[in-house]
Amino acid sequence: MSRILVIEDEPDIQTLMQFNLQREGHQVTIMGSGDDGLHELRRQPYDLVLLDLMLPDKDGIEVCRIMRADANLVSIPIIMVTAKSEESDVVLGLGLGADDYVIKPFRVKELLARVKVRLARAQDVDANASKKRIHIGQLIIDPVRHAAVIGEEVVPLTLTEFKLLHFLATHPGVAYGRYDLLDRVSGGDSVVTDRTLDVHVRNLRAKIKPYDQLIETVRGVGYRFNDATH
Ligand code: CA
Repeated sequence: MSRILVIEDEPDIQTLMQFNLQREGHQVTIMGSGDDGLHELRRQPYDLVLLDLMLPDKDGIEVCRIMRADANLVSIPIIMVTAKSEESDVVLGLGLGADDYVIKPFRVKELLARVKVRLARAQDVDANASKKRIHIGQLIIDPVRHAAVIGEEVVPLTLTEFKLLHFLATHPGVAYGRYDLLDRVSGGDSVVTDRTLDVHVRNLRAKIKPYDQLIETVRGVGYRFNDATH
């Protein structure tokens, strides 16, 4: 299941996209303007954006430009959705870092196929990134050995603690809600519940001192990895 944000102001197309993407098993959120779309993207993580070009307030080109200049949003795949008459804007959008486009009226099958390709490529990139060792000062996070080392000392992490640390470290600067993190780290050595997540974070912080400040609490949201100070 992927999280898809549709930024589109035409109710018919909103409904068409939501219905079909949900039927494919995706979680879909709709925003009707450029500003609302950007606000939503900064509120929680998304795997892909379907971006209409003609929008109230900020248009699709402007949204694309802002996303590609923002470290937290730069890697989210963007598929532009455009009218036939806006084809010159498509070229501009692709130049700004959009990944693909569909032209209205589009065939649902074509839209779904393009979404699938973009999600698969993003996953490949993620999979490669997830095999790399991460070095932050003396702290090394090694996903192949499922181990964290500080200096010469192996940090005795549980599998859940390791997954939590590794997931956050591979997505620096992004604030994740508790349920989001649960999704990513559960299925390991124990059943993780909403309440126990905070306990795992507390234990993890205690074990990785003096690097505990890497994991910030974001009030009202959850947690965020902040390696800016190291
Ligand atoms: Ca529009």
